[in-house]
Amino acid sequence: MTTEVSSTPRPDQPKVVEILKRPTDSVELILFCSKNSINQVEKLKHFTSDNGNCKYVPEKSAIYVISRSLSTVSVLARELQRFCKQIKISELIIIKNKRCEQFVNDIIKEVSKLKDIPKLLVIKDVTRISDKDTKTVILNDFHLLPTSGHAGVNRMLNNIRKYYYWPGMTNDVSEYVKKCKSCQIQKHSNRHTKEPRHLLLLRELV
Ligand SMILES: [Zn+2]
Repeated sequence: MTTEVSSTPRPDQPKVVEILKRPTDSVELILFCSKNSINQVEKLKHFTSDNGNCKYVPEKSAIYVISRSLSTVSVLARELQRFCKQIKISELIIIKNKRCEQFVNDIIKEVSKLKDIPKLLVIKDVTRISDKDTKTVILNDFHLLPTSGHAGVNRMLNNIRKYYYWPGMTNDVSEYVKKCKSCQIQKHSNRHTKEPRHLLLLRELV
């Protein structure tokens, strides 16, 4: 836990705010991009910053930072400042996980020295998930485990967001809950109760 990140900004200071949940129409700063993902990005409509270290893809609502810039954080911070002004972005999301924690701290420090920088919204300790199998494991864990008790969409989303993030998560969770057979049976049974199913089962056993 770092306290410097969530320090109260003075009016003339850039704002760095820690948040738990990603706002819907936000632009994400994606760090540590591989050559492969940059190649993918370049196939889409994109804008490149003056020194070529940042690429903004409106379709993905993201600014990709290519890895060779990581050695010079202060240069990158200034480039990002000019770029965001140019493309009129006033708020950026950074997802901070263990892999990029140090870099995020460094960039926040550098960005905080500059004026006229977009507000940085930092989501802490959230692991970005991209492969389908891992998503399925997470969805199962946060719904089927006894501690999850067939959680509904909102509770599941709130719990998952504390640890993981992936684009389209809201949709995946709601589809998952919709398809859960136990939840369907529960919903259509005449028991008007919101108790988790494992508690109901326990009660039946007592
Ligand atoms: Zn269920």
